[in-house]
Amino acid sequence: MAERERFDVVVVGAGSAGCAVAARLSEDPTTRVLLLEAGPEDTNPWIHLPIGYYRTIFDERTARTYRTEPEEGVAGRSILWPRGRVLGGSSSINGLAWVRGQAEDYDHWRQRGCEGWSFADVLPVFKRLEAYADGDPQWRGRAGPLSVSGPRHRMELLDAFIAAANQAGIPTNPDYNGPRQDGVGYFQLSIANGFRCSAAVAYLRPARKRPNLEVRTEALACRLLFDGRRVTGLVYRRGGEERTVEAGEVVLAAGAIASPQLLMLSGIGPAAHLAEHGIAVRHHLPGVGQNLQDHYQARIVFRCTRPITLNEVSHSLWRKALAGFEWALFRTGPLTVGAGVVALFWRTRPELATPDVEFHVIPFSADRPGEPLHPFPGFTVSTCQLRPESRGRLELRSADPADAPKIFANYLATETDRRTMVDGLELIRRIAAQPALRPYLAAEHLPGPDCRRREDLLAYVREKGTTIFHPTSTCAMGPASDPMAVVDPRLRVHGLEGLRVADASIMPTVVSGNTNAACIMIGERCADFIRADRSSRAAA
Ligand SMILES: Cc1cc2nc3c(=O)[nH]c(=O)nc-3n(C[C@H](O)[C@H](O)[C@H](O)COP(=O)(O)OP(=O)(O)OC[C@H]3O[C@@H](n4cnc5c(N)ncnc54)[C@H](O)[C@@H]3O)c2cc1C
Repeated sequence: MAERERFDVVVVGAGSAGCAVAARLSEDPTTRVLLLEAGPEDTNPWIHLPIGYYRTIFDERTARTYRTEPEEGVAGRSILWPRGRVLGGSSSINGLAWVRGQAEDYDHWRQRGCEGWSFADVLPVFKRLEAYADGDPQWRGRAGPLSVSGPRHRMELLDAFIAAANQAGIPTNPDYNGPRQDGVGYFQLSIANGFRCSAAVAYLRPARKRPNLEVRTEALACRLLFDGRRVTGLVYRRGGEERTVEAGEVVLAAGAIASPQLLMLSGIGPAAHLAEHGIAVRHHLPGVGQNLQDHYQARIVFRCTRPITLNEVSHSLWRKALAGFEWALFRTGPLTVGAGVVALFWRTRPELATPDVEFHVIPFSADRPGEPLHPFPGFTVSTCQLRPESRGRLELRSADPADAPKIFANYLATETDRRTMVDGLELIRRIAAQPALRPYLAAEHLPGPDCRRREDLLAYVREKGTTIFHPTSTCAMGPASDPMAVVDPRLRVHGLEGLRVADASIMPTVVSGNTNAACIMIGERCADFIRADRSSRAAA
């Protein structure tokens, strides 16, 4: 038995939220913080080069690839769900798009009983965490730890897409993280001086020299320890050995899959399900692992008339070398491209109050994400539904912490979800038919001109659609009166003491946009809550 250690706060998971929690708490030299991360240090160079995303997402040295259970809604397929498993978590392997979501998302959380989470409450946190040189300072932060960059690679083809969207009645929006999300424009990216700015880079790098912060990588948290209803520490595995650490408080920031899994392995969750795996029920909380949400996407691939896409760059040694020089000299060019270069947020029905679809436009194409790029010039436009109604769930596969839980994504389960996906594809085609894109458009390659009727488009969505990697809401925040709520608005697990959850899992509903910025904001707020509670305890 190894020796017992004690920290004021133990944070599990060094991802988007966990890095923010640990770094902010350790600003107070009297708070001793331990951050446990299952994956390794973020030394793999592909993490730090923006385009390296395409190399790291399915690499087991930087990511863990979960799989959804095969489901009818997606033509019996199982969908790959990579999550970052390295310092920085998914912020080290994500597509770099920097999107807060809509003000209405947070107002809706407040409406559901999450006091302190309206947009007016979270806006100052979003502002203090980012450093973005553009935009209106009423909305945007200038001096936070997380560097956000405007586009570093503009292209004639993408400008033509923006012009075509304008011709289709969708205005250009210079800042979708400003007062309104609606419109089209270049994505903002979590990039600092041409390098990826992950949560580990932004928060941990400067914090690691503090003597009161200890970061342990390749340390897998296995289960929580209790004294009655109070969490007193946890057991983790490192170097083939089980170790115990005591904590004044534990924060689970292991992400939307692992945080509910850890709760269930510790006896916190739906009692009947825990019993199926022989896990003693410590606290029946029926919402753990339920309410799973994700953004599903479907793509249209176009053949381009001219060799001006990144397909040609990827197939030419000298053009790759040129891209390397451009990056080395100016930190711009194709190597700074993320998972989307142009963003479009719009309503598929005019009566909607806010956009219900987001497009990612990328100046290259492949048959499937992650496959070699096409030998012909091509580009891709994907649509995702921003506020899906379908709800999935997670279940334990076994009581072994190393075993992946079963993921039932339950995509496309409602009529609205199916209709919105098809409407999104039709909107892409409407933009593609505008005069500004005509000189660039040779043909539609996927799904192709024969796929016209709405039922054929829906079949295509089911057969070829995939995730854009935004699972959330499996430990939803809500008031005590909500039987499915897992944490309260100060992120404390209902019915227990000394335990909080802070990551994508606490979102009551997925935000209308990419989820990284919201997760970091959640981490910042968790640190605020812990700090405030510690100082009021000290004052008492
Ligand atoms: C491939 C991909 C592309 C994406 N693209 C974008 C994008 O372009 N823009 C955007 O905004 N969002 C994007 N996202 C989503 C966004 O990055 C995530 O929503 C966000 O990073 C999740 O943050 P988190 O704190 O909830 O969890 P994570 O960042 O996933 O962190 C969880 C951490 O916990 C660790 N962990 C898990 N279990 C344990 C355990 N038992 N013990 C110790 N440690 C553990 C994991 O290894 C991981 O490091 C993408 C995600 C992926 C995977």
